[in-house]
Order: sequence, then structure tokens, then C-alpha cells
Amino acid sequence: MQKRQLGKSDIYVSPLGFGTLTIGPFQRNLPVDAGAEIIVHAVNNGINLLDTAHLYETYPYIGRALEILGPEKASGLAIVSRSYDYSEEGMEESFNKALNEMGIETISIFMLHETESEATIRGHKPALDYLVKRKHEGRLKLVGISTHYIAAVRAASEMPEIDVIFAILNREGIGIMDGTPEEMETALTEAHKRGKGIMLMKAVGGGHLYRNARSSLAWARDLPFADCVVVGMQNKEEVDFNCSVFRNDYDDLPETVLTEKHKKSLWIEDYCQGCGACRDACPFKAITITDGIAKVNPETCMLCSYCARHCPLFCIKVV
Ligand code: SF4
Ligand code: SF4
Repeated sequence: MQKRQLGKSDIYVSPLGFGTLTIGPFQRNLPVDAGAEIIVHAVNNGINLLDTAHLYETYPYIGRALEILGPEKASGLAIVSRSYDYSEEGMEESFNKALNEMGIETISIFMLHETESEATIRGHKPALDYLVKRKHEGRLKLVGISTHYIAAVRAASEMPEIDVIFAILNREGIGIMDGTPEEMETALTEAHKRGKGIMLMKAVGGGHLYRNARSSLAWARDLPFADCVVVGMQNKEEVDFNCSVFRNDYDDLPETVLTEKHKKSLWIEDYCQGCGACRDACPFKAITITDGIAKVNPETCMLCSYCARHCPLFCIKVV
């Protein structure tokens, strides 16, 4: 896979990145060695960007994959993580946890997770300042934000301390919280012109576009401002399929490697007590509390599993 420059930085990334949420405890929950093996398979097929987050609990998978790959191959990887912290102390703890649990001394990119607007980015200023300090020290190469909001892309585009923007975009606009895919494209084009590295998430709409996975991925691959499209993968078959799309080396690749039986959905156990913690945590507003229990709207649920982490009774699962 031909590497692309991430914005104006000196980091070059594969156009396809590996999203690790899908192998971790909130989705497929693979044993660490099995998940690490899929990451290693992806790296051996040309992927060099690995995406994780404090929330995902997948640092051990990446740490194990780095051990298997060895220092030479590991040094060519761009590892991305992010956290919700807004204070300097909180971000310090999250940053150090990432490095310790992955067994690394420096990290390529660390982000503010799920920002919504200029106000929320400014509200995280102590955490942002902490990351900028680590960057000047050389323990971090680039500072970023992740977002589902066009407003946050526009705001970050004008902030010199932000190097990378990781935004939601797919050809149907699924999951964009404040506008159309065209408006998101315009905002990202502008940000890219200003030198920001652009990473995209949810190119297959959190699974909603699975019947047209190949063409949805190819659409994202060909966006001129997209430096890297991060896709969650759960097995080697999905890695091979996605790599083939991004190498653009296929004649007769099917539209998808997934079938109806692979289609996943969110399951709420019947011992839900309707506390609403999952509803409040859902970034896509896909949960309501009806008749005292949580109900999921499958049309808007992106299977991101963020709600599962907030359920005190552990009654949310992706099945
Ligand atoms: S309901 Fe849960 S899995 Fe679905 S979008 Fe909301 S947080 Fe993500
Ligand atoms: S957080 Fe858990 S217990 Fe509370 S409403 Fe959601 S699913 Fe039910």
C-alpha cells in the first residue's frame, strides 16, 4: 500500500488503518494473543497505522503485537490513541497508561476523544496543553482530536496546536451529528489545505453499509483529503478484503465479505434497570429509556460499544 503523508507532518501512513475496538473486550473480546495475531497479519499486509483509545481497553493487544513484530517493524508503525480527559492530571494518567500498557516510550498521535465544537475543545485546554508539552519533549509526535461534528472540524482546522483531525465520514453521512456529508467534506478539505492530517472513521457506517463495503471503502479511499481511513477489523478475512480494496488490486472482489448472519446488533439484557447511563453516554443519541428499560434504535446505532462501558450492570453486548 502506497503510504500517504499525514497532513504536513513527517509521518507517512497507509491509506487503511486498523481500528482495534472490534477485537477488544467491548466487541469480539478475543484472547490477547489471537487479537495480536490479527494486528500482525494486518501489518504484514501493509497497514502501518493502529488506532486505539483509553476507552477501548485494547492496549494489551497492541503491546503483544509489537513484541511479535520486533523493534524494527514496530518502529515503522503510527500508533494513535485518545482519551476523554479534560484536566492535565487526567491526561497525564491516560497518556502514561497508554505508553506503559503498550510497552512503548513514545507515541505517534494522541487525541482528545469525541470533541463537539470549539467550546468543547477549549474546555479541554489543560489536557490539550499537556499533550502539546509532551510533543515538545518528543514523547508524542502529533496532537489531534476525534469528532462526529463538522463544527469541531472547523474549529480544529484553525487551531495551530491541533495536527490531526479524525472525523466520521461515509458516503451516506451516517453518524455525522450536525450536517451533511458534503458539508463534512468541505470542512475536511479546508482543514487539509491548512496542513492538518485527516483520518476518517466509520467509512462503512458502523456496519450499516456492510452490503456495499467494497464501494463504500473505495469511496473513502479516493477522497483527496483523506490521509488514512481507519476500519475496525475482527479477523484475517476482513483484513485481506480491506487491504485489497485499499491496494486497488482487484478485478472481481465481491461487494462484501460479510453476510446477513454476520450482521451485528446491540443487545440489552432483560435485567436492565433503566438507569439511563447508556443513553447519556451514547454519542449518536441511539438509546431511549422506554417503560423503564433501555431501547436501541438500530437505524442510528453505530455499534461503537461506548454505552456498554457505562452500564453498571454489564447488560449491553454487541451480538
Ligand atoms: S447505542 Fe451504544 S453502540 Fe449504539 S451508537 Fe450508542 S453508544 Fe454506540
Ligand atoms: S446503563 Fe445498563 S442498566 Fe442502565 S439503562 Fe442502560 S442498559 Fe439499562
